[in-house]
Amino acid sequence: MGLTVLAVHAHPDDEVMATGGTLRLLADQGVRTVLVTCTDGRYGDAPGAIKPGAPGHDPDAVAALRARELEASAAALGIARVVQLGYQDSGMMGWDHNDEPGAFWSTRIDEAADRLGAILRQEAPQVVVTYNEFGFYGHPDHIQAHRATRAALAALAAPPTLYYNALPLSAARRWREQAAPDPDAAASAEGEGFDPVALAVPDEEIAAAIDVRGVLGAKRAAMVAHASQLADAPWLSLDDDAFAAAMGWEWFVRAGHPVGLAGPSSDLLAGYR
Ligand SMILES: [Zn+2]
Repeated sequence: MGLTVLAVHAHPDDEVMATGGTLRLLADQGVRTVLVTCTDGRYGDAPGAIKPGAPGHDPDAVAALRARELEASAAALGIARVVQLGYQDSGMMGWDHNDEPGAFWSTRIDEAADRLGAILRQEAPQVVVTYNEFGFYGHPDHIQAHRATRAALAALAAPPTLYYNALPLSAARRWREQAAPDPDAAASAEGEGFDPVALAVPDEEIAAAIDVRGVLGAKRAAMVAHASQLADAPWLSLDDDAFAAAMGWEWFVRAGHPVGLAGPSSDLLAGYR
């Protein structure tokens, strides 16, 4: 039986930082990789770092551009299938956009879970990757992606192993202390106020540490593909060594392990190969 790994992310570009290298490595190993992106990212920046609500920011145009950027990123990462569920970006927590009709945050969990469940039954992945219950850092669409994924998995007769992306405390401290880029500017406008140490987990909780240093060209290319969000990201101005120090590992905690897997691994498909 073929091996499949399915990642559920909230916005176009979320697939890269925490899971892009892992997905590229898996694809290079012949594993089928599937990306489900829940929202259209319409309240991300418009090109030129134009913020939503500012003159020159057209949410429809941003969504259309980000859909194209996502396809280019997925190509760089070797992703076999991209499904864009197309819910409206809910914006940051507390924004009026949270409650707009069609916003992912205002969508009933069972509705989203049904759509996700149909994809899960088609693809029958051995492993699913998404965010923890805090959406890793608290964005409503990331929290909703977690909830929809959990609900969809709960309805499956044979659930896959579930991982959440994570940051070990040791790496978070290194990032904060050594990274040349301003940690407050990490990632994108979406990551405002991002403090890696506050989001990190004790190192011993990391179940899978994936060395992606061999595929960083693809990871960088995928970041570049998301130019509307990441063109000014500090990571992209790093030389190869510094980029590898910042981006060369991806970490996960194991949230469900139906095959009885225990202990740390260097492979998300441990237990299935
Ligand atoms: Zn996001």
